[in-house]
Amino acid sequence: MHRPLLPNASPVQKPRFLDSALDYLYPPSCLQCELSTDGGRLLCPDCVAAAARVRAPFCSRCGECYDGVIEGQFACANCRDLNFAFEFAEAALRNTAKNHELIVSYKYGKQRYLSGELARFCAEVIEQSPRFKSLASPILVPVPLHWRKQWQRGFNQAELLAQELSKLTGVPWQALLKRTRHTQTQTRLSRQQRAANLKDAFTARRIPEGFESVILIDDVFTTGSTAQACAQALKKPASQIENIVVLTALRG
Ligand SMILES: [Zn+2]
Ligand SMILES: [Zn+2]
Repeated sequence: MHRPLLPNASPVQKPRFLDSALDYLYPPSCLQCELSTDGGRLLCPDCVAAAARVRAPFCSRCGECYDGVIEGQFACANCRDLNFAFEFAEAALRNTAKNHELIVSYKYGKQRYLSGELARFCAEVIEQSPRFKSLASPILVPVPLHWRKQWQRGFNQAELLAQELSKLTGVPWQALLKRTRHTQTQTRLSRQQRAANLKDAFTARRIPEGFESVILIDDVFTTGSTAQACAQALKKPASQIENIVVLTALRG
């Protein structure tokens, strides 16, 4: 009698040790509700669906959210007197306690695999926002960390986000910016102090041929001082791209 080589015609099974190794790297339960998740996801479908997104009305320049009904595009009172070096900033997630906690776990809790989940929220913006859809030949450029900070944290949260976002959207990424100065933490500084703190903190390499716009990527947008300093650096080399926009996971 002819014996088939494999007794069952079932798909090849993964070795068990690989499963446990993957489970170690990607805990199989949701970080927010602890229900089990599939396919190495860190958030379950219900928590992904429930995460509060930035929805209109929001400021057309800084992405700040407003409640209620505001017809058409508007700039908030904060932005009216500011002259940003970028066209606009938009974020994927609103600053709710749950969303904020995700960023804290990602950045300070060393949950670097959250980059995939946060990138999915950002990809929604690139794929759905008319302003992003109409960008000509874009490239993703992450906000850099100073090498000392990156060494302490073990990774650059903006760069991992840009890498994952590139995989999801097909938009190429490149680390064109460099942080040349170690700056003090921005959290307790006013807008003016932040700008002074970041003056000449970044340098940029030339944007490669063929790209017509830059999507600057960061985890959080707060006052916009970091994005402003990065956009100014990107515009410095002669005949650089004028069209720079900002995308962050969270509107702080
Ligand atoms: Zn969940
Ligand atoms: Zn604004």
